[in-house]
Amino acid sequence: MTTSEIGVVGAGISGLTLALRLRQLGVDVTLYTEKTADELRGGRLPNTVARMGRTRDRERALGSEHFADAESLSKTARISIKGEPPLEFEGTIEKPFHAADFRLLLPAFLDDYTSRGGRLVVTEPSPGAADVERWSADHELIVVAAGRRSVAELFPRDEARSPYDRPQRSLLAGLYTGITPAGFSYNVSPGCGEIFQMPMRTRDGMAGGMLVEAVPGGPLEPITRMSYQDDPRAFIRTLQGVLAEHAPRIAERVDPGSFDLLGPDDMLQGAVTPMVRNPVAKLATGRIALAVGDAWITNDPITGQGANLGSHCAWVAAEAIAAGGPYDVRFAESVAAEMWKVAGPVTEWANAFLQPPAEHVLKLFIGAAMDRGLADHFINLFSDPVAAWSLFSDPAEVDALLASRAESSLVVSS
Ligand SMILES: Cc1cc2nc3c(=O)[nH]c(=O)nc-3n(C[C@H](O)[C@H](O)[C@H](O)COP(=O)(O)OP(=O)(O)OC[C@H]3O[C@@H](n4cnc5c(N)ncnc54)[C@H](O)[C@@H]3O)c2cc1C
Repeated sequence: MTTSEIGVVGAGISGLTLALRLRQLGVDVTLYTEKTADELRGGRLPNTVARMGRTRDRERALGSEHFADAESLSKTARISIKGEPPLEFEGTIEKPFHAADFRLLLPAFLDDYTSRGGRLVVTEPSPGAADVERWSADHELIVVAAGRRSVAELFPRDEARSPYDRPQRSLLAGLYTGITPAGFSYNVSPGCGEIFQMPMRTRDGMAGGMLVEAVPGGPLEPITRMSYQDDPRAFIRTLQGVLAEHAPRIAERVDPGSFDLLGPDDMLQGAVTPMVRNPVAKLATGRIALAVGDAWITNDPITGQGANLGSHCAWVAAEAIAAGGPYDVRFAESVAAEMWKVAGPVTEWANAFLQPPAEHVLKLFIGAAMDRGLADHFINLFSDPVAAWSLFSDPAEVDALLASRAESSLVVSS
């Protein structure tokens, strides 16, 4: 094998964005993947990702914008919180969210990489720390973007940044027929969980992507563990009941005659233990391994930020690598510190939203329900996690925002 400057392990959104960007910046790179593009195209639904404005800007800058047809863009988002009375608001998304099945998107990125001359090594399934050590001998730096399994021996859990030792939600992600599209829909059933829904481009055309986030032990949990295969009709009937009770805004768009799972592989059930790992490992070869994306930080998908963060981290790492070595511990730690400027707020925001909302966040919901301008602002925070966490973590900032909105509406109406 030819030696190259940088080795990248893993062909998810993080590794592919990194490999594509490094090549664009003229850096020699080798991408290690356990799956070929065809294998990425097959298999079970891996997630239901909404990619937001900045991620899509980066993809455009790479010349790798794919499947961004109008139907798969969400231009509005509606947040509905169950209660007596329910609380609800809708906002316009300045840079629409895009949702394409990763079994379409990732192989398209991988094809871009290889068609532009990128070097690819297809590895045995589930390679481990010893393989990363071995590969590192051929590179000045190895970046591990291997997803949430990570390479645990190299990147141990960072206790100080990981408040949870078990999953906080049980997940059911799926692609469905029979849901009339209506932008991005975020439904909160207090104490029970959240249900997200959006139009998605899939291998079989457009479908409704939906994620149920169930609080363990609560009334949403059984559906996240129920088998579709054993009795598809019972599953769909139960899911319809869950939507009617906990996400009526989705239920009203479901056509009972055609509502079904898109295909047998279009469902994912499981749970994520939120975890931050130490991102820098010194290898026996003397080389450094740097973790990015889920291999570094795995958050619960409750705020829809993981893939967007992986894309951001890949960009930050690529810029630093292209600026030149030596790729030593100091280099890797400074890249990690730069990535944490966004990853920190993303992580703290996701971990906070797994708990019942704080008083000031509730005040913000109420304000947004009464003020379209505030609703727009709220919705667009999903594309700017640093601003989002700055606001959600600070009661004084919320009060100042509500006061300034009240003032501006007085000016408008006087
Ligand atoms: C149900 C669900 C919904 C989600 N919704 C959103 C959302 O709306 N918005 C959002 O931004 N994020 C969302 N996420 C999170 C998002 O899916 C992840 O954060 C993101 O896909 C992680 O990308 P990654 O490239 O870091 O890792 P991965 O996608 O896991 O990719 C890692 C790749 O590396 C390969 N690999 C692993 N080990 C090795 C090895 N040793 N050698 C070679 N290859 C290896 C794997 O096969 C895999 O292809 C969601 C997640 C779930 C589960």
